[in-house]
Amino acid sequence: MDKVLLVTGGGRGIGAATALLAAQRGWAVGINYATQAQAAQVLVARIREAGGTAVALQADIAQEDQVLAMFERLGAQLGPIAGLVNNAGVVDVAARLDEMSLARWRRLFDVNVIGSMLCAREAVKRMSSRHGGTGGAIVNISSASSRLGSPGQYIDYAASKGAIDSFTLGLAREVAAEGIRVNAVRPGLIDTEIHASGGQPDRARQVGPTSPIKRAGTAIEVAQAIVWLLSPEASYTTGAVLDVSGGR
Ligand code: NAP
Repeated sequence: MDKVLLVTGGGRGIGAATALLAAQRGWAVGINYATQAQAAQVLVARIREAGGTAVALQADIAQEDQVLAMFERLGAQLGPIAGLVNNAGVVDVAARLDEMSLARWRRLFDVNVIGSMLCAREAVKRMSSRHGGTGGAIVNISSASSRLGSPGQYIDYAASKGAIDSFTLGLAREVAAEGIRVNAVRPGLIDTEIHASGGQPDRARQVGPTSPIKRAGTAIEVAQAIVWLLSPEASYTTGAVLDVSGGR
C-alpha cells in the first residue's frame, strides 16, 4: 500500500508541484484546496492517468471543523496518514504596518499559522507512537521573509512565517521520540500565482534577478526539497529549516 500524504493548498503552485512529485515517488496524495476545485481536480486526474493515487479534499484550513472533516475523509479514502505538507498560505497587498487592518492580520495568522497548527495537530494524533501510530514526517512551508522581515511589503506575512519557523523547531523536538520528523522549507522568490494575489503579478520576473542566483525559483525546485525531507533519505533530519531561496 502506498504511504499517504496530505498536501494543503495542493491544487496550485508549490503545493501542486509537491503533490505531483510525491505521487511519482509512490505517495498516495490527498490534495487539499480552499476554493479552486477545478485546479485540484485537474491535478488528481493527471496523477491518476500516470498510475498514481490522489483525491481532492476541500477544506479551509483556518476552520477547525473543516480540518477535522478533511482528516476523516483522507483516512477513509486513502488510509492512515504518514506525511503532511503544511503548504497552504496567503499574502496580502504591499503595505506599511501603519496602513494595515486587524482583519488582514487575523486572516494571515488564521491561515498561515493556526491552519498549519491545526493540520499538524491532527497529523500528530494519527502518526505519533504515543497515540498508536507508526510515525511520519511533517514539512512546514515557511518563507525567506521570516529572515528578511519584508519591510514596506508585508511584515505581517513575514511574522506569520517566523511563527512557522519557531513552531517547526518546537514540534520537531516534542515528537522526535514518537517517530515523527518535522522540518521546514523556506522558499525565496518562487514563480507562482501567489504574487498576483498580493497585487504584484510580475514580482517573480521583476525581483528574481536581484537574487544572488539572478532569477526566481520554480515550484518544482521547492517541491524537490520538500519531497526529500518527507523521504527516508532524510531519516536523521528533524528540526531543520532549509532555505530554498537562491542565496537570498
Ligand atoms: P499559491 O500559488 O497562491 O497557492 C496557494 C495555495 O494555498 C492554493 O492551493 C490555495 O487553495 C491554498 N490556500 C490558501 N488559503 C487556503 C485555506 N484557507 N485553506 C486551504 N488552502 C488554502 O501559493 P504558492 O506560491 O504556491 O505558496 C505556497 C506556500 O509557499 C505558501 O505557504 C507561501 O506562503 C509559501 N511561499 C511562497 C513563496 C513564493 O514566492 N511563491 C515564497 C515563500 C513562501 P486554492 O487553490 O483553493 O485557492
